[in-house]
Amino acid sequence: MLRRKVMPVKEVSDRHRALLSEMARVMYDAKGIGLAAPQVGISESMIVVDTGTGLYKLVNVKVTKKEGRQCMEEGCLSVPGVGVKVKRAKKVMVEALDETGKAVCFPAEDLLACVFQHECDHLEGKLIVDYASLIGKIKIKKTVTRFLKKAHDGTAFPPKGKFGAL
Ligand code: ZN
Repeated sequence: MLRRKVMPVKEVSDRHRALLSEMARVMYDAKGIGLAAPQVGISESMIVVDTGTGLYKLVNVKVTKKEGRQCMEEGCLSVPGVGVKVKRAKKVMVEALDETGKAVCFPAEDLLACVFQHECDHLEGKLIVDYASLIGKIKIKKTVTRFLKKAHDGTAFPPKGKFGAL
């Protein structure tokens, strides 16, 4: 599911609004700052984001007009215990539909820009591990294997990364 490219939403309905609210609840419960629909098993273009400046619930999201560079260590709810340094644009424009189906377009920068790019990667089936070096990927595999074992024992550790879970 995480590797599949999502389908666009044809019309924003009550079902989508309910899913977006549920996704926000999951994100806050996990102390995350972003969540994309594929992370909760839904292959549709929906994300929720809250970096502390308010909640975004967006449908059919696209990141356009990328400018500048930044590099942050990112964590991901779907790759627990792993932090990967990812180079991304510092400023972006976000184009989407809000939960009423209205087209919205707004700029984002720094952490917020980073989170929107991370969540849009999820919509394309891309994960932070794809940005890791070969050695990094081997380390990640060990960490994830260890996590799965601990999860099985009931002693799983929380997601890592400077900005927590996305
Ligand atoms: Zn993620």
